[in-house]
Amino acid sequence: MSDIDYISTGVDAIYGKNCFNDRAMREWLPKSVYKDVKAIQAGTQELTPATADVVASAMKDWATQKGATHYTHWFLPLTGLTAEKHDSFISPVGDGSIIMEFSGKELLQGEPDASSFPSGGLRATFEARGYTAWDVSSPAFLKAEGDGLTLCIPTAFVSYTGEALDKKTPLLRSSEAVGGQALRVLRALGNESATRVTATAGPEQEYFLVDKKFFDQRPDLQLTGRTVFGRMPAKGQEMDDHYFGAIKERVSVFMRELNNELWKLGISAKTQHNEVAPHQFELAPIYDPVSVALDSNQLVMETIRKVAARHDMAALLHEKPFAGVNGSGKHNNWSLGTDDGENLLEPGDDPERNARFLLFLSAVIKAVDTFAPILRATAANAGNDHRLGANEAPPAVISIFLGDQLSEIMEALAAGKKAPGRQGETLEIGASCLPKLPKDLTDRNRTSPFAFTGNKFEFRMPASSQSVAAPNVVLNTTIADVLSGFADRLEKASDTAAEIKAIVAETYQKHGRIVFNGNGYAQDWLDEAAKRGLPNLPNTVAALPAYLEKDSIDLFKRHNVLSLAEMESRVTIYMEQYAMQINVEAGVMQEMADSLIYPAATAYASELASMIAQVKAAGIGVAPTSAEEILKALVEQMNLMKAASEALSSAVEKAQSQGGDALRAAAFRDTVIPCMEELRQHGDAIESMIPRNQWPMPTYEDLLFRM
Ligand code: ADP
Ligand code: MG
Repeated sequence: MSDIDYISTGVDAIYGKNCFNDRAMREWLPKSVYKDVKAIQAGTQELTPATADVVASAMKDWATQKGATHYTHWFLPLTGLTAEKHDSFISPVGDGSIIMEFSGKELLQGEPDASSFPSGGLRATFEARGYTAWDVSSPAFLKAEGDGLTLCIPTAFVSYTGEALDKKTPLLRSSEAVGGQALRVLRALGNESATRVTATAGPEQEYFLVDKKFFDQRPDLQLTGRTVFGRMPAKGQEMDDHYFGAIKERVSVFMRELNNELWKLGISAKTQHNEVAPHQFELAPIYDPVSVALDSNQLVMETIRKVAARHDMAALLHEKPFAGVNGSGKHNNWSLGTDDGENLLEPGDDPERNARFLLFLSAVIKAVDTFAPILRATAANAGNDHRLGANEAPPAVISIFLGDQLSEIMEALAAGKKAPGRQGETLEIGASCLPKLPKDLTDRNRTSPFAFTGNKFEFRMPASSQSVAAPNVVLNTTIADVLSGFADRLEKASDTAAEIKAIVAETYQKHGRIVFNGNGYAQDWLDEAAKRGLPNLPNTVAALPAYLEKDSIDLFKRHNVLSLAEMESRVTIYMEQYAMQINVEAGVMQEMADSLIYPAATAYASELASMIAQVKAAGIGVAPTSAEEILKALVEQMNLMKAASEALSSAVEKAQSQGGDALRAAAFRDTVIPCMEELRQHGDAIESMIPRNQWPMPTYEDLLFRM
């Protein structure tokens, strides 16, 4: 709160103080055990019960001296949220006193009630129970709730027969896969210094803030996270600067506290204003290994909500809270880094690094082109369907932005022509250097779903409310698959440089079609993309089945990331979630139409009617024709709204009765959504006819321009 005082307590003293990070481990663990943990994290050593005991005891000591009384295995079920089961450290000793205890066994494994989390049928097929297992790769942290502190241990959640029941497990498996294959490639290139390659992610989080008092009067925002009615007033855009000044003050106090809370957790955050939509903001963290980035992003979302509430605001993480206003995404920046500090997507200063860069760049290009449908599927949810392709966010077609300079180089290499090198010389892979590429290309093209931004790729499709697990699972796995093929070739090659050259050229010849540097929002591009044979999966129901194509199933199996049963269970759950979301939205719409909009319209209509009657009765003259016209139009819209509401009812009922998750989801998409659109049209038309002070809920103007 406002106890933030960076003068008496420097940021460095606050940063990470609630995180059992490397610094804390070094302080609290015996030197030899600290080394063991590092080796276990690096995958070169197995975790033993003895090590777990020492770590558990140190974690408990660290946590309790800060005031923690409880611990929890913290995990990421397929709901997309987080889950916890709290236990206290307290252990009675028999004489009426207690000691604080935490054993290695308790650190390693927990047993939440698996039946309360979705398993997509896995439970029926396998085992009813599930357990959580300590994820050594992600640091434990202290979560504050009121005055209490709980030690949270990041875990993976699996069934007793080993099936993944969460978002974390496949991400850890896919990190293994891509790290292993990348290392094979490095070895084949003669690199003996790196011992580990890690996929890294820096997810940028977008969100809206609205005043809590307005939020509380909007059942749609409360129950679905988005407005199902509401129109953007033309004059809304021109609110005076005075307002913005006041908002800025309030938001910057919020942001200061948000940063402070995240810093305590060891999450590096720099919050910033986002100019695109009013009341929309963005938070960018410094990147981490993907599994840490996943956990951090969950905490970021949770903390944004929590801190907003403290400031009487509501944070909206939905992809499209307001129709006609830019939505929110989660840009997933991704790269591969070695343990000796090399970024494999960074063009270097010497010929060797450049060759390596071109090879890894080619791997990403090939992976994204080959597996575009599943990459698209990772960004699919009901909210993002409003956003992708809506002239504000990337289209639903996947393409890669490389920038003109790099594209020209790749094209030349593919054609066996000379490409320009660093100093006027021609580029010879492995013998000369790439010209200097502009570092941040991001701002030049915001319309691309997948952009190379100098030393990493930025995947811009993912949904703001979604876990970043799936996008990174798919990036890791598909790129692992391509790297594995490259490694096979390079390991056999007698002339490595020639083989790299061949791989880069062949890859671009075959997969260069995925590269597009133009305006991704233009209709021309969709036509062109279709000509190039690039898939266009316009919505969730169309995109999710990509996971179940034979090629996808084989891919995930090949790299031990997800089995067929695990994948099927996920698709089942995502289809269910989609149908459920639309179902709730439809219900809220009807409720608002019937109990808020209709009564307000009725009241205003009778006011008009009696005014017209009085004017006529008083013989003042001809009843005002404009009032009669308004009344007529209003009643017409009321009737149309009633009819639309009834049509929606029966569409929902029919959709609900469909057997099978995919069919049900498709019915919601094809019949329920059009009815919702129709209903909204009439509700919004009525809003435009009723005086502001008689409208029964806060308007877009309130939500977007007032605080
Ligand atoms: P800016 O856009 O402010 O110049 P950057 O382009 O450096 O910042 O980074 C944008 C986002 O990309 C940040 O969240 C950052 O952590 C992330 N990022 C930077 N480098 C990497 C990397 N090697 N791997 C993954 N994410 C990265
Ligand atoms: Mg960005």
